[in-house]
Amino acid sequence: MSKHVRCGTLFTGAADSAATDQTFIVGDDGRILHVGPTAGAPPPARGDTVLDYSDRFVMPGLHDVHTHLAYGNAKTEEDIDLYAPLEFRALRGLFFAQKCIAAGYTSICAPGDAGQISLSVRNAIRAGLFDGPRVTAAGRYLTTRQGLTDWYPSWIGAPETSIGRLVASKDEAVEEIRVQVKNGVDCIKLAMDGFHRRANGELVAAFTQDETTVMVQEAQRLGKKVVVHARGREATLYSARAGVDLIFHAYYLDDECLDALVKSGSAIGPTLTFPRNIVDFTQPHEPAHLKGRINDTQREFEVACENLRRAKQAGVPMMTGTDSGFAVTPYGEWHARELEIFVQHLGFTPAEALHAATQVTAGFMAEGDRTGLLAPGMAADFIVVDGSPLQNVSVLLDKKRILNVYIDGREMRIPARGYDPRKVTDFAWTNWTDLYTQERVAEIHGHTRGSLAAAE
Ligand SMILES: [Zn+2]
Repeated sequence: MSKHVRCGTLFTGAADSAATDQTFIVGDDGRILHVGPTAGAPPPARGDTVLDYSDRFVMPGLHDVHTHLAYGNAKTEEDIDLYAPLEFRALRGLFFAQKCIAAGYTSICAPGDAGQISLSVRNAIRAGLFDGPRVTAAGRYLTTRQGLTDWYPSWIGAPETSIGRLVASKDEAVEEIRVQVKNGVDCIKLAMDGFHRRANGELVAAFTQDETTVMVQEAQRLGKKVVVHARGREATLYSARAGVDLIFHAYYLDDECLDALVKSGSAIGPTLTFPRNIVDFTQPHEPAHLKGRINDTQREFEVACENLRRAKQAGVPMMTGTDSGFAVTPYGEWHARELEIFVQHLGFTPAEALHAATQVTAGFMAEGDRTGLLAPGMAADFIVVDGSPLQNVSVLLDKKRILNVYIDGREMRIPARGYDPRKVTDFAWTNWTDLYTQERVAEIHGHTRGSLAAAE
């Protein structure tokens, strides 16, 4: 028995593919059998179902290539790495994966987390134990003392439960890659830079070119993709030269990087939602603000947009991702903001942004050979939208407008359940964000408060 999906407007995922009054037919196996104008579609046979969305916009399920399922909407790195047991993080990750699918994201990549969290979430969903998005899973980031995820002092290092795996040599890196591949990851994550800068301000790559090339070759030899965190120029250059599949950020790319990117065919996942949210949402009392991070982030955002526009013009594939999983990027909330930023800041048309969030980003996903495009033979992963994202991509941010979400032709029905962050993520022992000297207390409360008044 087939499902006949009637669409007011259908965007198939291919660039500029929107057409009105279309029908596609989904077979028992969840694969698409036919796509075309409703007028010429084969009529439903007895027992077939008709899904009538003839007044709606239908498109492939959205893809977010940068959603950290294991972070739990964290406010601190310690919360990501230390307090919750891996088993709890996996259960929490499953809950949050469902928030993503409720927002219309049918495919997500979890690029780097501790243990085998995303991998287990992926397998539980794949086995049909729970409804959820298709998950592309990585293991721990491979990193060095100069790389992201090596947050703690050298006398502590990266604990077993942290998202980073410190490797001290090429041999150790290769062994870690082999272990992760044996465990069943879809991709390998490298922390290609962190926060270490030279005197001239340039971010230093965490690995040498030679080390990078060795790791990328080994991962790809074993049939896995490689995704890297690379904000700086040097890390971007080494990554592109090594032929990685996907570079997150690449904010400081220059002409040399662009040449290498065009040669290697590496994609970029700008992940501009994260810096944008930091600038737009962080309140003045918060540590990120007090540490001066807002102005720095705004400056970086502007430089990044300028460089990334050039990458787009050079034909570098751009994938959509958000760094969801932090307190400024909670699961299921801001994924579609990346499309908005692509349009507002990177010169994408709405159709190009939709194409990026579907067919292009599917190019990195583990099951991407069957998602991101509604065409015969592909999986019927699709969403039904109230309003046209081609006129305004921001409608995708409005959860009320994501009316239905299907995976393999089956509708996902996720209960809208709230949660108390203090029981889910906020386990770090931070109690105060201010220092209560007499002077400060007077500033906050005035001189007439409490015992200070008595002492006067
Ligand atoms: Zn990330």
